[in-house]
Amino acid sequence: MKQNGKWKAVIFILIVVGILIGNHYFGWSDYLGDMNRLMKIKDSVEDNTAAVFAIYTVITIIGCVVLALPGVTFALFAGMLFGPWKGILACLFATTLGAAMAFLVGRFFLKDAVKPMLEKNKILKKLLFTKDGKSELVVLMITRMVPIFPYNLQNFAYGITDIGFWKYTAYTFVFMFPGVSFFTIGAAGLTAGEDKWKYFLTAAVLAVLVTAAGLLIRKKFLKEEPEERTQAVILFTRVPEAGKTKTRLMPYLTGEECKELHMAFLKDIRMALQSVQADRYVFFTPPEKEAEIRELLPDMEGYYPQSGDTLGDRMQQAFEEIFRKNYQKAVLTGTDIPQLTAADYEEAMKLLDTNDVIISPTEDGGYYLIGMKAAEDIFDVPHYGTNTVWEDTVANIEKRGRKAGFGNSHLDIDTKEDLEVFTKRLEEGKVSAPHTEAWLKQRQREECIHCGKCTRSCLFLEKYHMDLKGFLEHPELAYHCFLCGRCTAVCPKGIDGREIALQHREQKVKSEGNRVTDPAYRAILWEKNQYQFANYKNASYESVLFTGCNFVSFYPKTADYLIQELRQRGIGVLYECCGKPTAELGAGKDAEVHLQQMERRLKEAGVKELIMVCPNCYYYMKGRVNLRLVSIYDKLAELGMGQRIPGGLPFYYPCPDREEKVFLKGIRRFMEAEERDAFPEVQCCGLGGCAVAKEPALAKEMEKLAEAAGEAELYTYCASCVSNFRRNGYGRAEHVLSKILNVQEKVPLGVTPILHRAVRKWK
Ligand code: SF4
Ligand code: SF4
Ligand code: SF4
Repeated sequence: MKQNGKWKAVIFILIVVGILIGNHYFGWSDYLGDMNRLMKIKDSVEDNTAAVFAIYTVITIIGCVVLALPGVTFALFAGMLFGPWKGILACLFATTLGAAMAFLVGRFFLKDAVKPMLEKNKILKKLLFTKDGKSELVVLMITRMVPIFPYNLQNFAYGITDIGFWKYTAYTFVFMFPGVSFFTIGAAGLTAGEDKWKYFLTAAVLAVLVTAAGLLIRKKFLKEEPEERTQAVILFTRVPEAGKTKTRLMPYLTGEECKELHMAFLKDIRMALQSVQADRYVFFTPPEKEAEIRELLPDMEGYYPQSGDTLGDRMQQAFEEIFRKNYQKAVLTGTDIPQLTAADYEEAMKLLDTNDVIISPTEDGGYYLIGMKAAEDIFDVPHYGTNTVWEDTVANIEKRGRKAGFGNSHLDIDTKEDLEVFTKRLEEGKVSAPHTEAWLKQRQREECIHCGKCTRSCLFLEKYHMDLKGFLEHPELAYHCFLCGRCTAVCPKGIDGREIALQHREQKVKSEGNRVTDPAYRAILWEKNQYQFANYKNASYESVLFTGCNFVSFYPKTADYLIQELRQRGIGVLYECCGKPTAELGAGKDAEVHLQQMERRLKEAGVKELIMVCPNCYYYMKGRVNLRLVSIYDKLAELGMGQRIPGGLPFYYPCPDREEKVFLKGIRRFMEAEERDAFPEVQCCGLGGCAVAKEPALAKEMEKLAEAAGEAELYTYCASCVSNFRRNGYGRAEHVLSKILNVQEKVPLGVTPILHRAVRKWK
């Protein structure tokens, strides 16, 4: 296949060379570029317009696509030949047809051979080969409206991208319209009689519009090109292999389990590194396993086999390799510490501003990260793998007159005891490593004792007569679980139903070509996978309110009041989706990319803190974005805003806040006395996990349990919960934020909430 692609490219080059030689000897371009000669055709127009139109089309295609003559010549020619309006049509038709033909030639002859080469350049890759095709369209729009690249080259080049043929042709036609109109109308003015000035005036207005549109587009899109980075992170790892990796954990773990655990570590490290403003490189061993490491860590800048006899030599050579690429700072880390966050890496980079070398210790006397500004010769310590390695290396640094800085100390996971301590810290929420935690929990699942507690606490499990271990065997029920987490709260083994459901969902999405194919979720994905109503206009502040999608849908009046009050205190607002619905449907990778883009935009805008209104967004984004997240209630208390509310109010706790209670603790700061847990029987409001599409009757039953509690009112702090209780007939559900802000507002139903969030795009 690859070979075939090369041959096609060679044939294409030979054809181009043939045309150039022919043109040199026979002067085709001089002939077709001569306006006087072309104008002789005008005399025939009155007699036979169709024939002249056909001749014009052929000449234009040959002239601007094959012979690379400027397209402007043919737009002017069309104006003189056919007059303004027919001229625009003729020119657009001919140039679009030519562009489409050149595109097909580029796609057939060049794509296989040239695409892999272009993809190696990260800027071109970002601009021309995005998964959603949006970048390609933007580039198409810019190059068609702003003539900065030769027209004929563009056409062949678009054949190499992934953009679809019909999409390309239609957009080419549309985007060329302003430029073609300008030249054609101007040219028609030259040959017009008395009304010349009307043509020139129209052309001048068009010129101003085209220039303004071009400048606007360039300003909006071209500025987003990634800046060249000056920092690099080196990840030093063995490729996970059963029996060869993490072997000190054996026999506590089997060889296969050691491999899986190591893979989970790598996934966590990769996730943290994605938010670090640095290029990422992997130095791996053994050298023949490059394909495996590329698959595990697909988005690195480079992959190098380690070389050198000792660990010190290998690290030294890795730094030398990286500094040959002119980076100003580089840090190297291993893969035994999955709990490192983006902030840890960024802190290390920052410490390099005031130190020559940064060396961050592990709790057992080694180090997990070493960084420097130039390749330093500091690695010749007596022995690696001992509890004095950190000390010995620091001594080396100082002996060479270099200044050393130190990051926080961390636990590295080498032994059974380390893993036990780490698991405990995960359970206590002291560290975060989602992939490692998921793997550990999955292993735990094997330990189910079939006590039945999960089944008795969950309407879904009860309906299908199974416990969580049974749920593992039923991937077809992936979208029937409400992701409420109640099973985990009662399971003596800490087995988590949400993880089982998410695992089933991800598996299904993967097996269907990385797409959620279920039509029940089409609308939600259309809206939220790359949020349609996102608006960053007022998000260039250090602190920004993150409303989420649902609060503004159901509480627009409260939201506006809050936004206005915060604005007066120098706080901005962002309308965006956190990505949780996309992730919950099994398209976690899309959600991850979305979150990374959001984080990058916010950091570029100088945002440091997000004030979270929705507990779903908060818990989803926590640990996934490297920004400070604070609940709206803590922020209101900090700012001295909001009124006191009575104690003893009947509360329904939204699922995501039930364990850590970050939001509830914030709300309690406004209470005269504690609230009442008035709805302990209610498993979920019915909206969780998008399961209502599969289990409408169960969702209704959950709401009925709320009714059965016999309370006159229900207070909660998730707008989706309020809306769902009300939609199902529980008219007395209220959001506690409105009460604290003293805004009277009733939740709208029907399509109104969608309109409320849609208009935020233009606010
Ligand atoms: S509660 Fe836990 S241990 Fe008991 S049956 Fe369910 S999953 Fe198994
Ligand atoms: S997460 Fe909720 S719905 Fe899913 S199994 Fe557990 S209790 Fe049942
Ligand atoms: S969790 Fe819900 S409310 Fe929050 S942003 Fe995501 S979809 Fe919107």
